[in-house]
Amino acid sequence: MALTFKFKDTWNRRSFLGTFGAAFAALVGSRKLSAAAPVSSANPAVQPDCNRIASGLGSTGNVYEELGVTTVINGEGTMTTLGGSLGRPEVEAIMTLAMRNFVSIPDLEAAAGKRIAQMLKLPDGYTAIVTSGAAGAIQSGLAGVLTRDTEKFIRQLPDLTGMKTEVLIQKSHRNPFDHQLRGTGVKLVEIESREDLQKALGPQTAMMHFTNFANSAGQIKVEEWQKLAAAANIPSFIDAAADTPPVSHLWDYANMGYDLIAFSGGKAMRGPQCAGLLLGKADLVHFALLNNSPYEDVLGRGQKVGKEEIVGMVKALELYLAEDHDALNAEWQRRLDNISAKVTAIKGVSTKMTMPEIANHVPSMQITWDQTLVAITPRDAAQTLRSGKPSIVLAQGEDGPGLSMTSFMLQPAEGDIIADRLVALFRAHAA
Ligand SMILES: *Cc1c(COP(=O)(O)O)cnc(C)c1O
Repeated sequence: MALTFKFKDTWNRRSFLGTFGAAFAALVGSRKLSAAAPVSSANPAVQPDCNRIASGLGSTGNVYEELGVTTVINGEGTMTTLGGSLGRPEVEAIMTLAMRNFVSIPDLEAAAGKRIAQMLKLPDGYTAIVTSGAAGAIQSGLAGVLTRDTEKFIRQLPDLTGMKTEVLIQKSHRNPFDHQLRGTGVKLVEIESREDLQKALGPQTAMMHFTNFANSAGQIKVEEWQKLAAAANIPSFIDAAADTPPVSHLWDYANMGYDLIAFSGGKAMRGPQCAGLLLGKADLVHFALLNNSPYEDVLGRGQKVGKEEIVGMVKALELYLAEDHDALNAEWQRRLDNISAKVTAIKGVSTKMTMPEIANHVPSMQITWDQTLVAITPRDAAQTLRSGKPSIVLAQGEDGPGLSMTSFMLQPAEGDIIADRLVALFRAHAA
């Protein structure tokens, strides 16, 4: 093992505190308020710093076009396949600062976790680490639950010999990101009713996993799931990746008692794209880190988090907490209202404002039209927008008929561009 950390098979809580010394001990208990954070400008366009790139790649200021890849206007949302979100200038600047020194990554993770717990005023005994994303937090969080600090087990994953082997999940909570759970080697045991749950609980049960966006779909809701897990003495995990806003979700699930909580850093919080938060009970968060980069011969070595992401995530969180969320929401709604006013002036076109109850809880708009009056299919409309100049991405087919969009990832003036292009498109196909 490189760096400062050495595994010990026999570690108990005391020796773990001893090894990490004051850093980890300080995580548990300190609840000071952070100093007031500066308020960032809302949704600024990020200008590449081309002054410092005299020649070659990046010298024009648009590195993507130089590489021959088209940049898009993102009316869809915080999609990883489109690059997630655009960072604030302060995050860009602090990541550059972070590049200028060497530092112990485990020490930096401990310090970042302490700062995050303070900023979020997490309950005593909770801390955090910055992960490569919510998906990384899910995998390393569970890995830590399985292995605790036993070196043999950490090296052994995904071979579960000697460890618990099952994670309980409601059937309606299965989703693509539970691949990260399965990646540890566990079996997902699907349950539906409370009776199913009691039958499934046993000596092989390692963890109870909750997918927050599926809250309304399952028979057991978010608070009860945690209580049932606590009663059975089983760690509870909640995947709340895309569940800010509202900002309060950042502390709600810790206050509910969840043992581990995952958030994406690169979605609405606009942190580094390869960052996320694992919040939780200090011992479990520590065990998660032991299963993650920078350590070697561990399952999560591929989920590297750099000093730049760690510092950038802390800064993004600071700025996000200082944001005027009501004003942002009003601005996002205003952008959609503007687009709606323009497109509904065309005969046969209508819009509907929506807001998902949980996950991507931001103003959203569905755009539908009577195809006898505007003769283009939603699929062709989306394709035409995507292949136009500038390229525009709206969602099609996922959230009901027609096209749907959000405005929270738009840059200034992009709402007008979308409106004008939609108007032109619909006019061109009007009966
Ligand atoms: C986006 C998302 C993830 C993955 O988050 P990353 O930060 O991209 O790793 C996991 N779970 C859910 C529900 C998500 O929406």
